[in-house]
Amino acid sequence: MKASLDRRITRATELAQTYPSAASLLSFYRELAHFQKSVSQDVQSNAITDARALTRHFPALLELMSHIGAQPIAEFGREHLQDPAAQQELLLAYWESGPVNGLTGTEAGRFFARVLLQPYAEYLASRGDIALDKAEPTCPFCNARPVAAVLRGEGDGAKRWLLCSLCATEWQYRRVICPACGEENKEKLPIYVASEFDYVRVDACDSCRTYIKSVDLTKNGHAVPIVDEIATVPLNIWAEEHGYWKLEPNLLGM
Ligand SMILES: [Zn+2]
Ligand SMILES: [Zn+2]
Repeated sequence: MKASLDRRITRATELAQTYPSAASLLSFYRELAHFQKSVSQDVQSNAITDARALTRHFPALLELMSHIGAQPIAEFGREHLQDPAAQQELLLAYWESGPVNGLTGTEAGRFFARVLLQPYAEYLASRGDIALDKAEPTCPFCNARPVAAVLRGEGDGAKRWLLCSLCATEWQYRRVICPACGEENKEKLPIYVASEFDYVRVDACDSCRTYIKSVDLTKNGHAVPIVDEIATVPLNIWAEEHGYWKLEPNLLGM
């Protein structure tokens, strides 16, 4: 069910051709996914179960960001993440308590933590026994919030799954309920679609003003939710202009 990093990279290339306006974003994503692939191979071949071991990938990541990262990211790396103790502190803070304070209190700090912790978390989730019918709005494996929802055909209708922003686990979740505040009144849960992306929609909540994007695989079976979510950034802009905030940012912080 989980798309491999190779599949994600291929999908990013396909989508860059379909949506030229997202091409530079997708090319940045592709570089990150290539980098995550090297982390993933290391984590798997050495059976790494301690996040501190990821610090050995910082030099390559900092080097990559000095070339292709946005200025605030490259600068943050130069100023705050040169020293292994700071790198370790960032990873452990994000891993243990999520994106809250200290170095993880900044968007750039969270970005570096996500790039390195995602492949690690995916590896741990692949070894774990996860109860996928937990019916809660946070990941049954790592407790992180979902970055997107996925609709899959089942019987006559489609079932909704939530996709973890950190370990990419997908778990089933009821369709008509806000994953942020639990609102169940259909009138307060508007759905927005844009003609350019007929298989990705915005599920918003008028009670807590959050939104999450849903990738409908019954309408487009080629979609790779992690990547298609990134490619459809005009939907984020639209939602944010209408006063909704995203439940959880993606790898790129959007
Ligand atoms: Zn997770
Ligand atoms: Zn809500």
